Amino acid sequence: MNYNSTRNKNRVVSASQAIAQGISDEGGLFVPQSFPKYSIDDIKALVEMDYKGRAKKIFGDFLSDFTAEEISESVDAAYTAEKFGSENPAPISYVKDGDTEMSVLELWHGPTCAFKDMALQILPHLLTKSVKKTYSGKEAVILVATSGDTGKAALEGFKDVDGTKIIVFYPVDGVSPMQKRQMATQQGENVNVVAIKGNFDDAQTGVKKIFTNSEIKNKLAENNKLFSSANSINWGRLLPQVVYYFSAYCDMVKDGKINMGDKINVAVPTGNFGNILASFYAMNMGLPIAKFICASNSNNVLTDFITCGTYDKKRKFYTTISPSMDILVSSNLERLLYHLTDGDAEKVAKWMESLSSNGAYSVDESVKTKINSLFYGGYCDDENTLKTIKELYENEGYLSDTHTAVAVNVYRQYVEKTGDKTPTVVASTASPYKFSKSVLAAVSDEKLPDDEFLMVDELSSKTNTEVPAPLSALKEAKVRFNKECNVDEMPRIVLDSLSLS
Ligand SMILES: *Cc1c(COP(=O)(O)O)cnc(C)c1O
Repeated sequence: MNYNSTRNKNRVVSASQAIAQGISDEGGLFVPQSFPKYSIDDIKALVEMDYKGRAKKIFGDFLSDFTAEEISESVDAAYTAEKFGSENPAPISYVKDGDTEMSVLELWHGPTCAFKDMALQILPHLLTKSVKKTYSGKEAVILVATSGDTGKAALEGFKDVDGTKIIVFYPVDGVSPMQKRQMATQQGENVNVVAIKGNFDDAQTGVKKIFTNSEIKNKLAENNKLFSSANSINWGRLLPQVVYYFSAYCDMVKDGKINMGDKINVAVPTGNFGNILASFYAMNMGLPIAKFICASNSNNVLTDFITCGTYDKKRKFYTTISPSMDILVSSNLERLLYHLTDGDAEKVAKWMESLSSNGAYSVDESVKTKINSLFYGGYCDDENTLKTIKELYENEGYLSDTHTAVAVNVYRQYVEKTGDKTPTVVASTASPYKFSKSVLAAVSDEKLPDDEFLMVDELSSKTNTEVPAPLSALKEAKVRFNKECNVDEMPRIVLDSLSLS
C-alpha cells in the first residue's frame, strides 16, 4: 500500500515516508492509493478481538512497510490500561434520547482527557519507526505551536520516547489556566515548553519560520537530527482514528445494540475534519455507515459548504465555548475532495490554490451531489450548546463537554428534519472536566467560583461524578516550565533546547 499526494498524483510514497514527512513538498496531503476491503466476516473476526487486536489488524493493512512486530510494539505501548483507565481506550456510553438511544463513543479517557490522545499516544511510536526506515536513525525534533489541547496531547505522547525531542510554544495569554498548568507541569526528560509573548498565530508563524530556516536545518542535520511535525494532517494521526469507528461498531454488535451488517450513522463535532474523515475511511473499508453528521459551532464554514458546495473562509471568526472547533480552514477536507473526485489531484490543487488566494472555492455539481448523499452539516451556537448540556444532564443523567454537546444538538436537528432513527455513534471528544467552567455554568444556577480547580471540585460534587485522575493530579504537580519569550527568540530557544547553540 502506497500513498499519493492530494495535489500531485505522480508523487508516490511509502507509509513510513508519508508519516516521517507529514506533508508533501507541494503542500498536498498524503492519502492511501486504495482502501483494504473488509467483508462482514472480516468485521465479525474483529468483534472477537480487544481494542489492541483490532488496531493491529487495521494498522497492518495500511502500514505495508512496517513489520507485524513494529505495529504490535507501537499499539501495545500506546493503548495501555494505565494510560486510558481500562483495556478499552474508547468505551461507549449508551444514552437515551427520547425514543432512541445514542451510542456516545468516549474518546477522552487518555492522559490529557481529550480525543487527540487516541492518535497522539501512538504517533510517536509510528514516527520514530518511520524516521528509522527513511532517514536511518536520526533524532526527530518535534516543534509544536498550540492553542492548548494539541500541545499537551503531543507532550504526553512524545515524553520519554527514545529518539525524539519535543518543544512546545503556546501564546502566553491564549490558553486556559487549566491548559497552562497542564503544560507547565509536564513530565519527561525530552520536553520543553515555552510561552510566547504574542497570540497563537505568532507562535505558529514562528514555528513555520524555524521549520524552513536552512541555517537551523543544516545545524540539525550536522548533528544527526531532523525536524518533524505532529500536526493533524499527518497520516500517522488519521489512521489511529479509523480504528475506533470499527471498534465502536464491534462493541455495539457485542452489546446487542445492532446486528452484524446493520447500518449506523455517525455524528462528529468537527474542526479540522480529521475525526469525521476517519469515519469516512472506515466506510470505504466496508464498515456499514449510512450518514456522516458533521457538527460545527458558530464557525459554521463546513455547514455552509455541505449545504451549498462553496467553501468560503472570508467570514467572522468566533471565539466559542468549544474552542477546539474554532477553525475556518478545515485542512483534512482536502482529502475528502480528493477521494470524491476519484483522485483528481489537479482539480484539488486548483481549489486549494483558490482557497489560499481568493479565500474560497466552489466544487462541481457531481462532487456536491456525492457530499449531499453522504454528509449532513449543521451547527450549534454557544447558547444552544449550554442548553444541550443542561438537558442531557437533567433528563438523561449524562454529563457532556461543550464539543460533544454540539454534536448531540446537531444530531437532534438531523433526526428532527429527517426522521432517520438509524442507530448513531456520537463522537465524544473531551471530558466535561476539561471545560469545567462552561459545563458548570450549564448545570448550575449558582455563582461560579473564580478558580479553575474550585470549579472542577464544584462540578464533581454537584454532579456526583469523578474528576479524571490526570486533572486532579495537576493541583499538586510541580511547575517545571515557566519561561516566557519574545517571538524573535524562538530560534535560539530551539537551538538551546537541543544544546546546539
Ligand atoms: C481537535 C478537537 C475537535 C476537532 O476534531 P477535528 O478532527 O479537528 O475535526 C473536537 N473536539 C475536541 C475536544 C478537540 O480537541
